[in-house]
Amino acid sequence: MISVEEALDILLSNLPERRIEEVQFQLALGRVLAESLVATCDVPPFFRSALDGYAVIAADIENAPVELQVAGESRAGGGMPARLRAGEAVAIMTGAPIPEGADAVQAVEQTLLSPDGQTVTILKPVKAHENIAPRGSEGKAGEIVLPSGHRVGPAEIAVMATFGHSRVKVYRRPSVAIFTTGDELVEHDQLPRPDQIRNSNAYCLSSQLQYMGLEADYLGIVRDDREELRRKMLSGLERDVLIITGGVSMGEYDFVQDVFRDLGLEILFTKVAIKPGKPTVFARKGERLIFGLPGNPISALVTFECFVRPVLGRLCGMKSPELPRMRGELLADVKQTPGRTAFLPAWVCWEDSGWKVEPLQWKSSADIIGFTRANATYVFPKNRDFLHRGEIVELMLLPDFFVRQR
Ligand code: AMP
Ligand code: MG
Repeated sequence: MISVEEALDILLSNLPERRIEEVQFQLALGRVLAESLVATCDVPPFFRSALDGYAVIAADIENAPVELQVAGESRAGGGMPARLRAGEAVAIMTGAPIPEGADAVQAVEQTLLSPDGQTVTILKPVKAHENIAPRGSEGKAGEIVLPSGHRVGPAEIAVMATFGHSRVKVYRRPSVAIFTTGDELVEHDQLPRPDQIRNSNAYCLSSQLQYMGLEADYLGIVRDDREELRRKMLSGLERDVLIITGGVSMGEYDFVQDVFRDLGLEILFTKVAIKPGKPTVFARKGERLIFGLPGNPISALVTFECFVRPVLGRLCGMKSPELPRMRGELLADVKQTPGRTAFLPAWVCWEDSGWKVEPLQWKSSADIIGFTRANATYVFPKNRDFLHRGEIVELMLLPDFFVRQR
């Protein structure tokens, strides 16, 4: 059985080539740039006023109060103003171009306009360059403003609009298919027989993918039947990544691994020292990647976050798509059978200047209801059998961490 770290090494050394596509810039939100974007002009494109006030020559008002001639106005979008001469001021609005000759702006609050509007008294001096954003001070034409590999958020969309990058190259999102296996499974809108349960994994995994900005084709429930599995797997293998849940362990009716072999898949691992989720399987066929996740709901959820997310995130162009890790202080003693690294549900909160970790009760790796109370998992190291209250433990924050309320 390999360790979690070894499993990750295998996953990351089997990544196919990332693909690139060009999209309309607004559709790039949440994507990763596959090209560097340059400034197509200086920003600001002219010396720009930061305030509503008067453009002046700082030296003219050194001994303020000083009365100046109002030589005109500069407003945003109102054309380039005429040159300013000594003894003059130009009324100026936020975002408007500074007239040539002026070297500072005094705020309107520090001025008094004469009743006829011909002169303005500047009440206080300003330093040269004050309240002026020089041309190109935020971006110079030709320089890289968004490097390749940068993830696109709202500010990046604004930068693209600023420079007229209407279409941009981003990493393509991998196509993903999901199916779930088990004779006991029925869909959410069906009434299970006494020996049946409703399929929850397919919907949990689809939601986890959705959080990553990915959409999956859900191929349905597959019976524990080798031929049916084979057929469904062939159709799932048309996607870049196939995720299967259930049927991966060593039970009499766990056929997933057999079918992997029937189809000539290269099986890269079949067991990981992780709890929950030991029977996780990873395989590839050429460029296609296949994950066999255990059927127990928490096992499927946790192994997705630990193993599937790092792969899918990288295919999307992200450099470190892993869920954030941090440390916190354990609020209770906890026991475990050693041998596997355990990711156990916790409620983590900030208290008394530190992150506090409350281990949550969970009955088994099937207990998805218990897991709904968690906002993180804490890591129980595989060589330990006891963690003491007050110990500092490693945490893996769940995607809801920052929004979940108690
Ligand atoms: P398996 O990995 O097929 O041995 O399944 C392990 C456990 O997970 C069994 O109790 C299954 O009934 C349960 N299980 C398997 N698939 C699902 C699913 N899609 N939704 C909810 N529970 C499942
Ligand atoms: Mg099963």
